[in-house]
Order: sequence, then C-alpha cells, then structure tokens
Amino acid sequence: MSSTWHILGAGSLGSLWACRLARAGKAVRLILRDGQRLQAYQQAGGLTLVEQDQPTHYAIPAETAESSGPVHRLLVACKAYDAAPAIDRLAARLADGAEIVLLQNGLGSQDEVADQVPHARCIFASSTEGAFREDDWRVRFAGHGFNWLGDPANPAIPEWFDDLHEAGIPAEWTVDILTRLWRKLALNCAINPLTVLHDCHNGGLLAHLSEVDGLSNELAQLLQRCGQPEAAQNLDEEVQRVILATSANYSSMYQDVRAGRRTEVHYLLGHACRAAARHGMVLPQLERLHRRLVDNLRARGLPCA
Ligand code: NAP
Repeated sequence: MSSTWHILGAGSLGSLWACRLARAGKAVRLILRDGQRLQAYQQAGGLTLVEQDQPTHYAIPAETAESSGPVHRLLVACKAYDAAPAIDRLAARLADGAEIVLLQNGLGSQDEVADQVPHARCIFASSTEGAFREDDWRVRFAGHGFNWLGDPANPAIPEWFDDLHEAGIPAEWTVDILTRLWRKLALNCAINPLTVLHDCHNGGLLAHLSEVDGLSNELAQLLQRCGQPEAAQNLDEEVQRVILATSANYSSMYQDVRAGRRTEVHYLLGHACRAAARHGMVLPQLERLHRRLVDNLRARGLPCA
C-alpha cells in the first residue's frame, strides 16, 4: 500500500490538512477539479497557509481525477453535495482496500460514497477546526478545534493514524463517530436555518428561544428514534450553550446564503426530515422549518437540495 495522501479538494479544510501533512514530511498529492483549475494552481506554484498572520507556502504536487496511478489513501475535502460525483470520477483509480477519509459536514454524503466504492474502507470525520479561503490557493487557519474519526463498520484504528499526530492535526479515533455526527447535525438544524430565516447572527436567536426549544425537542425525539440516545441527551441545553458561546458569530449556512453560495442543507436539515419520514414520525416544527428554508433559498435563486 502506498503511503501517499491524496487530497481531493484544495479548499479550506483540504488545504489545511494538505499543508500540515506536507510540512511533516508526508507524501501529499492534491486532486483538483479539472485541467483548468490544475493550470491555475500550477501558475500559483502551490498552496499558502496563513497561521497567526504568518503565510507559509507549500509546493504540493497536484493532478486531476483523470491522471493515472492508483489511490490508496484519500482525504475527501469537498462539500457534501460534491463528494459522490467527485468519487464517481475517481473510482477506477481506487485500489482494493483503499482508505477514504470523509470530512463532510452532516450525514448522507458518507453513505452515498460508501455505496459507490464497496471495495474501499470509508472513514467518517467530524471536524470543529475552522479555516476559510482568502483567495484561490490561499487559506487562513481561523479556529483551533478537533477532529474525530471513526468507521461505523469497523472499529480498528487505521495504521496511518499517527501521521495525523505527527502533522500536528488534533485527532482522536472513536467508535461512536455516528453519535458525534448526529449531535453536530442536530445542533446545526436547531441553529443555522433560523439564522437565515431571521437574518441574524447566532446571538439573535436569543429573541426566538421558544422556537429554538421546540426544534430541540423534536430533534431529540428524532435522535432517540434513530438509535442515537446519547446524541439526544440534554440537546436543548447544549443548543442554548452554543448560541451563547457563539453569539457574535454568523453560522456557516448564513454565510453561504449571504455570499450566494450553495448550502449543504440537503445533508443537514434535509437529512433530518428524510430520517423522520422514514421512521413515520410527524415533527411539525422541523418540517415547517424545512419548508420555510427551502422557500427562502428558492427565492434567492439558490439550490434547495
Ligand atoms: P471549500 O472551501 O468550498 O472547498 C471545497 C473544495 O472542493 C473546493 O476547492 C472545490 O474546488 C473542491 N472540489 C469540489 N468538487 C471537486 C472535484 N470534483 N474534484 C476536486 N475538487 C473538488 O469547502 P470547505 O469549507 O473546506 O468544506 C469542506 C467540508 O468540510 C464541508 O462539508 C464543510 O461543511 C466541512 N467543514 C468545513 C469547515 C471549515 O472551517 N471550512 C469546518 C468544519 C467542517 P474549487 O476550488 O475548484 O471550487
């Protein structure tokens, strides 16, 4: 097995991971969207990671999905809605037993990918690190956080896990990755859509606490029904804690909408509503929230799935 890290998507998180792995002396190759993006990248001569206002340049080699050679270890760092189409283009290059780390927020995209590549091992990740693109190929590390990785189908820790520690990537292996992803999804559903609908920062939701509470209660019922009782525990309290702790921040969904970017709603609130329907649950507040959000996105000309 080759120990090269292929990193699909040189956006915010992809660049953050690529630069830290490359700095630690790990073999890294970027997989970019197409020939045009590859040419633009080659003109820039590499990635720049800005940490504490210090920019550092990393001349990491890059290719496209159509390049040749097997891929044994892949970090998928695109948005949730791009993951399955991107893997489709790369599937023929994935070696038997290849390991794929999926960094996507929300739920649903991981299973879409896993269904496409049954010969590979899919590892799910949940990240609280923060990074954003200042420009093409230039990313600012904006918020220290943590990464949990796990494989719902196999508790064995991958042999490359120490690469992450050596690269200074804070990470832990967990057998409860689905609990973490569901909990994060529920927090997102209780907060982010309302910030779009009320056009406010997270703290603005303090004026809408009964709405927030109603959603938290329905989400906790959903988590219980989905076999995630731990993720349901004290959800309402944590939602309020997050709102207070991040009161000055604008949610990622709010920022996407304001910038006219597609949101990941299909894999967040959309996933929650589909799960509820599958279990025959009636969750009126969650469904109404989804309808209002879809109408809002549609009125702005943004995709609602
Ligand atoms: P991002 O900055 O938009 O980067 C996504 C990258 O994927 C872009 O560079 C895009 O290419 C690339 N891409 C899309 N389709 C591709 C394809 N077929 N082949 C190769 N590259 C492709 O997104 P992000 O913020 O890093 O988010 C990635 C995931 O991490 C999301 O699910 C997000 O919710 C999650 N997350 C992000 C953060 C954060 O702080 N940013 C924190 C926690 C979780 P182009 O450059 O050509 O558009």
